[in-house]
Amino acid sequence: MPAPDPHGLYIEEYDDGGFSIICELWWHGNRANRIRRMRSIADNIRWGGWLCAHCRKPIPIFRRSDALYCRERCRKAAARLRRHERAKRHRYARGRVMEF
Ligand SMILES: [Zn+2]
Repeated sequence: MPAPDPHGLYIEEYDDGGFSIICELWWHGNRANRIRRMRSIADNIRWGGWLCAHCRKPIPIFRRSDALYCRERCRKAAARLRRHERAKRHRYARGRVMEF
């Protein structure tokens, strides 16, 4: 799936912590998808900011609205960490079983 248009949304932040999102609507393309993306990004920002699940930096506006990571590098690092933790738990569980 191609990435969304990076120039379709503009986020304006205020000093009091509030924000507004401006969404461009064109005659071509699906207007409902663009509006849905804007609402989804607004929800992401409203619920504690739209931050990367790995490095906690803000996710760039050109990413998909359901993106959890700011870039491919963070997504792969998080997957590697999960695999490593899973392997460690598995080794630990196997060690405990062998003790009994
Ligand atoms: Zn990141």
